[in-house]
Amino acid sequence: MSALFPALAAPSDRPALRVGPDTLTYAELARAAGALAGRLDGAERVAVWATPTARTAVAVVAALLAGVPAVPLNPRTGERELAHILGDSAPGLVLAGAEDELPGGLAALPRVDVELTGPEAPPAAPVDPEATALVVYTSGTTGPPKGVLLSRRAVAASLDALAEAWSWTADDVLVHALPLFHVHGLVLGILGPLRRGGEVRHLGGFSVDGVARELGDGGGTMLFGVPTMYHRLADALDADDRLTDALAGARLLVSGSAALPVHDHERIAAATGRTVVERYGMSETLMNTSVRPGGEPRPGTVGTPLAGVDLRLVDEDGSVLAELDGETVGEVQVRGPNLFSGYLNRPDATAAAFDGDWFRTGDMAVREADGGVRLVGRKATDLIKSGGYKIGAGEIENALLDHPGVREAAVTGEPDPDLGERIVAWVVPQDGEKPPAEAELADHVAGLLAPHKRPRVVRYLDALPRNDMGKVLKKALPTA
Ligand code: ATP
Ligand code: MG
Repeated sequence: MSALFPALAAPSDRPALRVGPDTLTYAELARAAGALAGRLDGAERVAVWATPTARTAVAVVAALLAGVPAVPLNPRTGERELAHILGDSAPGLVLAGAEDELPGGLAALPRVDVELTGPEAPPAAPVDPEATALVVYTSGTTGPPKGVLLSRRAVAASLDALAEAWSWTADDVLVHALPLFHVHGLVLGILGPLRRGGEVRHLGGFSVDGVARELGDGGGTMLFGVPTMYHRLADALDADDRLTDALAGARLLVSGSAALPVHDHERIAAATGRTVVERYGMSETLMNTSVRPGGEPRPGTVGTPLAGVDLRLVDEDGSVLAELDGETVGEVQVRGPNLFSGYLNRPDATAAAFDGDWFRTGDMAVREADGGVRLVGRKATDLIKSGGYKIGAGEIENALLDHPGVREAAVTGEPDPDLGERIVAWVVPQDGEKPPAEAELADHVAGLLAPHKRPRVVRYLDALPRNDMGKVLKKALPTA
């Protein structure tokens, strides 16, 4: 396998990174990361204080050049979770900006300040493709975050499969506003453009104005976002012609990390004529499927497997499902060169996650006639067994969001003496409006879907509990 970043091996004056006021060409990035890599020699694992800055990108690239596994840390992580991650990953060093104040557990570690400049560095020595590139912690949506060991081979394979699916080239300029400590923001959003030899512009944080400024006429060709970002863009579209033009002028709008509600898909398509492309992946597998740009818009599906990825659905008895009927629900299993090498320090969890060489994703889906995958939810939190039916939370959430009085919605199951489980809808009403009545919402869902998908209880909240990626934390709902 060639080097992870060919454009750093033959550095040029082409722009590589722009984050706020900091810009680096490939030549500058090669020098800054090369100089830092020289200071990491011999470290077994390094933590990266992953602020949304150019320093984080330089630090991670340096670790990759040095062949030292990097552990990106969320700077907003609470004390307990940070202690868990530090105890688990035991980094020997921390890389941070000189101005960063590090919390207790980290301040005790030897620290190397990341600079954005450096002298000419010698070319990086080749590193074994199976060596661990990154230890990425899962989002902790279903339990304590697990350290996922990602090899260089997996990173390269997944980024190349995406490049093929999206015709992603060195001419692309990615507009990016996500945090830099997960697969989405770091691997796809930073390592992706650098592997292609293209440019990434990070907004520092998400803002509608920033997207409107950078995308389209601003030069940006692609936008990667999570559903909460697209929701905010959709809200702003009506009043903002510049934003409409920016989205319409982009080559590719991609959403992932959680399901993009059909309602938001439709609002964006109606205003801009553009279809948001959904892709599906996870820390353990990098990217599995994607809708192909230019195909028929299919809100609610995450497309077909990427090159090199095998995907199957398996029922509760372990039988492989062959149905392409859009109805038969099974757990998604995948295999391919994109898979992780195991969980750090968790041989039992690693063994339990595999069925032979197939990884059990814990996500439930159906397949459409063309092989397209429609996720219906997670096995652990989104699959409701009610009255003899297996019901995915996702489609009920989409139906609720289709009601004009609903701003956010989550659906869970609760024990019920008759039904086994009953469907509970958690609803955030539109700002300043009278919440739609329970019976009205239940009728709305039953009318759109089927009577057995009718919520039996509706609970109203001011906001849904979400993590930094905007994922709904169902375990944190008041009584779920
Ligand atoms: P944990 O494993 O700690 O519970 P997590 O699964 O949320 O957390 P990640 O690896 O960051 O951690 O997220 C992967 C999950 O995100 C997938 O298993 C899937 O449930 C969800 N996901 C990713 N992309 C999509 C998408 N396009 N549509 C719906 N869900 C998605
Ligand atoms: Mg997970």
